[in-house]
Amino acid sequence: MLANKASEILKTVFGYSEFRGAQEEIVNHIISGNDALVLMPTGAGKSLCYQVPALALDGLTIVISPLIALMQDQVTALKELGIKAAFINSSLNMEEAFQIKEAMIDGELDIVYVAPERLDTADFLDCLSDCELTLFAIDEAHCVSQWGHDFRPSYTELSKLKKRFPDVPRMALTATADLRTQKDIIKYLNLEKARVFISSFDRKNIRYKIQAKNNEKKQLLDFINSEHPNDSGIVYCLSRAKVEKITKWLQEKGFNAFSYHAGLSPKVREKNQSKFIKEESVIMVATIAFGMGIDKPDVRFVAHLDLPKSIEAYYQETGRAGRDGLESNAWMVYGAEDMVKLRQFIKNSEAPKEQKIIENKKLDDLLGLAEALECRRRILLEYFDEIPEWEKCNNCDNCLEPRSGFDGTIAVQKALSSIYRTGERFGVQYNINILLGKSDERTEKLRHNKLSTFGIGTEYTETQWKSIFRQMIALNLIEVDMDSYGILKLSLNSKEVLNGKRKISLSEDIKVNKTKEKTKITKIKTEFDPENEIFKELKKLRLELAKEHKLAPYMVFHDATLHAMAQTKPQSLNEMSKISGVGDAKLKKYGQIFLKHFKT
Ligand code: ADP
Ligand code: ZN
Repeated sequence: MLANKASEILKTVFGYSEFRGAQEEIVNHIISGNDALVLMPTGAGKSLCYQVPALALDGLTIVISPLIALMQDQVTALKELGIKAAFINSSLNMEEAFQIKEAMIDGELDIVYVAPERLDTADFLDCLSDCELTLFAIDEAHCVSQWGHDFRPSYTELSKLKKRFPDVPRMALTATADLRTQKDIIKYLNLEKARVFISSFDRKNIRYKIQAKNNEKKQLLDFINSEHPNDSGIVYCLSRAKVEKITKWLQEKGFNAFSYHAGLSPKVREKNQSKFIKEESVIMVATIAFGMGIDKPDVRFVAHLDLPKSIEAYYQETGRAGRDGLESNAWMVYGAEDMVKLRQFIKNSEAPKEQKIIENKKLDDLLGLAEALECRRRILLEYFDEIPEWEKCNNCDNCLEPRSGFDGTIAVQKALSSIYRTGERFGVQYNINILLGKSDERTEKLRHNKLSTFGIGTEYTETQWKSIFRQMIALNLIEVDMDSYGILKLSLNSKEVLNGKRKISLSEDIKVNKTKEKTKITKIKTEFDPENEIFKELKKLRLELAKEHKLAPYMVFHDATLHAMAQTKPQSLNEMSKISGVGDAKLKKYGQIFLKHFKT
């Protein structure tokens, strides 16, 4: 009975015809009164797992969420679906908070969002005792673990809920995959008896692409122009100065770009973030200060102009693309100088030695992903201990446009000899000049033009040598002296290559046989086409409505829903109601307006 009710709610309130993945099982488990721990990647649909039970059962569901800034948007979106939802946090005054508490006690609300700190106050707990409670949903549950980056001490206090409300089911949800965090959640939230639901962490709709950096601005522009000329996306940079520079440059090129970094005032940050969420086709250029809790479902690309710190960071940052399940790109360019910069960061940080060892190891793993010739998705998933059943994903650059590897042993030997013979006192560029036989005053003064290595590398171009040096750094075949910026030295690994005991295979990220450089990658060719004319017109209509009702466009309809409308061109309200994402409330509010568009 209740299960039927859940399906009914899915259709009438949310406008979806089917549950996705484990959603149905989770929903049924919860409405039968059990506890659960739900591990699902971003965009998999965690929120429905507690929102549907909240509506199927009589009484009040409390959602604990760490991000006060998000609550307003979450509640607005639910109200748009006709759900009786509210939030209580420090942005409300006493009177407003009091009214919501009254409504909770009177059974007038289905879902209330609160910050974890609130559950630590006697006053609020007393209020809850007076409510008919159906469920506690603890979102972003990884905040309970000190292991991750988002630790919130007040999350550990949530263990009290079990003692105080032993009969109310609790569910914890997170998109953090690792085992250690999982164990912490179970332990600190008293969820020993909860059933654990683990979904695959594969983000199928995200296409991974990683390329060698040669001219980052031009590469970025080519990428955006060819694949995302009218889309919203995030461009990550390492420093504030670079964020400002890239924003200015994108603006000059005619894009609607804004900056976000910790050096901006909270007011400016808030303004720029709001533009990103409320307007269409906005590019946010940002440091990693931007992103936590960005719920925007239609971020179509995440571009990295600098390397993230680890595979975890890469997965999390790229994961902000395509929450709505539509095709999206995770695109990155990187070069030798980026690796040097990150190693230098680690070296110069205040962290204890053990911490630095871990950070260097994490960076090594990331470089392994960046340099790999195999399926990137596979490497990512295996890193999180998930073994895919397939060999190739067919949605990453390495699967779509395989590059070949080549025996780079001789090239590496030549480069190492050059470093050695010039006394381990020069950087990448000088060594490349020696290998190419280019001399200047300095070379002649030092008589380096007389060295046996002078001019022995002319079979490769300068760009190709850069690629070879980059890979040598990634493979730790050479060391970069961090005290004197960029000086290359032999490493412990160099000897076995020099004496022929170890073969090195390198990748042709740039065609090695002097043919034209290969940089273009097949454009995404799938059903969803953001450049479809009807889709673009519907987006315009959506933006007008969003402005009129003071909503973010996605709160009117998601891209996926507009896309489905553009495809099916509904001719009646009945046909409109069959489109995924059109529930009863939205049909009533916007149905006629969108229908007019198709009745010419
Ligand atoms: P998460 O919290 O796991 O990141 P969300 O709950 O925000 O994911 O859901 C991601 C997107 O998927 C949203 O746009 C949501 O409306 C959509 N979605 C969730 N469940 C379904 C479903 N059963 N059918 C269609 N769309 C769904
Ligand atoms: Zn692949």
